[in-house]
Amino acid sequence: MTAKKKATSIEKTAAEKIAAEKTAAEKTAVVLSDEEARRANAGALLAERKLDALLVSSLHNIRYLTGFTGSNAALLLQADGRATLFTDPRYTVQAGQQATCRVKIAKGPLTKAVLEEMARAKVRQVGVEADHLTFAQYEALAKGVPGRTELKGQAQLIERLRMVKDGGEIAKIRASVQCNSAALEAALGRFRAGMTEAALAAEIDHQSRKRGAEAPAFDTIVAAGARAALPHAHPGATKIGPGILLIDMGAFRDGYASDMTRTLHVGKATAKFRSVYKAVLEAEMAAIDAVRAGVTAASVDAAARKVLRGHGLEKQFIHSTGHGLGLEIHEPPRLGRRDKTRLEAGMAITVEPGVYVEGWGGIRIEDTILVTYAGCEVLTPTPKELREL
Ligand code: ZN
Ligand code: ZN
Repeated sequence: MTAKKKATSIEKTAAEKIAAEKTAAEKTAVVLSDEEARRANAGALLAERKLDALLVSSLHNIRYLTGFTGSNAALLLQADGRATLFTDPRYTVQAGQQATCRVKIAKGPLTKAVLEEMARAKVRQVGVEADHLTFAQYEALAKGVPGRTELKGQAQLIERLRMVKDGGEIAKIRASVQCNSAALEAALGRFRAGMTEAALAAEIDHQSRKRGAEAPAFDTIVAAGARAALPHAHPGATKIGPGILLIDMGAFRDGYASDMTRTLHVGKATAKFRSVYKAVLEAEMAAIDAVRAGVTAASVDAAARKVLRGHGLEKQFIHSTGHGLGLEIHEPPRLGRRDKTRLEAGMAITVEPGVYVEGWGGIRIEDTILVTYAGCEVLTPTPKELREL
């Protein structure tokens, strides 16, 4: 009895000791949020370019670096990772809830508040986003910067970081892709011959919203018959009758895009549809097979083009094979002939070869894909076998 009691008390002491150690470890452990880790990476990039800070104007880049989703903002990111987000009083509550960095609510123009912060932080070499800062904003900044501060145009600096997705982003893209595929099935379940393109597109958008999408990632494309020859057809009053039905759709869910095209046949598929479908599917699979970390974006495009050339259809393939996606529907890299970007594990891209014949129609097959070290993972679960409705 005594011995047992003693053992219990020793165990308790050990457990208490472990608990105490754990608390100490937790106190010293540096747990970075996704956005803090991204800011640290971006800061290192600034230091490499000998910049003291970057003024971020793109709202997508601001969301990526801070979590803030408001429609009016600027961010001053310093090379040591410190950051100040500027927005207006409408967003006081939202910025407080979302932003993982210091927030300054500017009563007047954001530029004035940014200039004050630049002077306070004594930054000298300041990068600005050449693709996003307007000329008027640039002029206002240039006029107001302290004497020794230099503004330096930067192209695609944060965009380059955004090409490789982190775990949190990949989870959101997966959820977006699932939502998109489920919406297609639900919408097709409500399809009736004679429905207009516009009605089916509206049904797709409705089903997507019901499954958690904030918005379509782009204007949903529903193209019937010969109209499928237009790669970016706008759904209209055309009735969907027997023949080709091309659907290209994407969702924004939790801010992240998905993108998928399926080309179906209403009624029994013709011999021509079957043979072109087989060629496009073969090209899509060849491009997917070519995807892995280390290869160039152009080489994936070449793999799809080679298959279509073999079928005598290369001239009917009038766009690039795919694109990156994430917070935006079209992000770098571009899987086209000229993009020498090397694919990296964690990039989310689409593969979408197509063949378009004026007066007949078109066929495109598109999946959202995650690049891995060994190859890739096709995220889109929707089957690709020829489907007759
Ligand atoms: Zn696409
Ligand atoms: Zn698409």
